[in-house]
Amino acid sequence: MSALIELSGVRKTYRSGTVEFEALRGVDTVIAEGEYAAVIGPSGSGKSTLMNILGCLDVPTEGRYVLAGEDTSSLDEAALAAIRNRRIGFVFQQFHLLASMPAWRNVELPLVYAGVSRAERRERAVEALTRVGLADRVDNRPGQLSGGQQQRVAVARALVTEPDLLLADEPTGNLDSGSTRDVLALFDELHDAGRTIVLITHEPDVAARAGRNLVIDDGLITTDRVRAGAR
Ligand code: ADP
Ligand code: MG
Repeated sequence: MSALIELSGVRKTYRSGTVEFEALRGVDTVIAEGEYAAVIGPSGSGKSTLMNILGCLDVPTEGRYVLAGEDTSSLDEAALAAIRNRRIGFVFQQFHLLASMPAWRNVELPLVYAGVSRAERRERAVEALTRVGLADRVDNRPGQLSGGQQQRVAVARALVTEPDLLLADEPTGNLDSGSTRDVLALFDELHDAGRTIVLITHEPDVAARAGRNLVIDDGLITTDRVRAGAR
């Protein structure tokens, strides 16, 4: 399969005043279309920094990030925002849903930014909610849903634009064990359907669901393991 993500020599240095901190110290990796990869590592190891770069929310200080053949290194903020909207779906630990809006309105939001017509937005939002098992919840506000259901709304929002890449940062971090099982089962289904997923976690049992585990420690990938018998 062809490469979706290519990172070469990626470094990220944070500066505050005269103090510099190198959060990524030379990351090289390729993730193919259709892979389900977990990035695992202890707190402070650089996982979120890597996620921000993969998600075009931030750019490397040094090195190259090529996404779907497009070198993102030299793009300005407007071009990065367009790539985020077109190619990437995000799921976060905090669901980041708007409390005053029903599920379908939350899900259609990325399509508003993409300039899709109102009628098509509603149709696609309902379709995405159906895919995550919430066809009967489209008109519920987040406060009327369980944590697991809210995270499934967030997954529907991430998928509604048909992104190349689903990026999830600690997506089960705020969920009880039952909801965690639900959300991980949904990710398995999405992977089986061909979706590329990069999941960031510090929990080994969550990482174990992915076909590939990248271990990050102190800003470097220290282990890259394809799991035997992975789905
Ligand atoms: P993780 O997600 O694995 O917990 P992060 O990528 O958030 O780790 O952070 C990696 C390191 O970079 C940590 O030591 C953190 O303190 C530091 N760091 C993260 N963001 C910033 C920032 N904006 N300014 C300075 N240091 C930062
Ligand atoms: Mg983090």
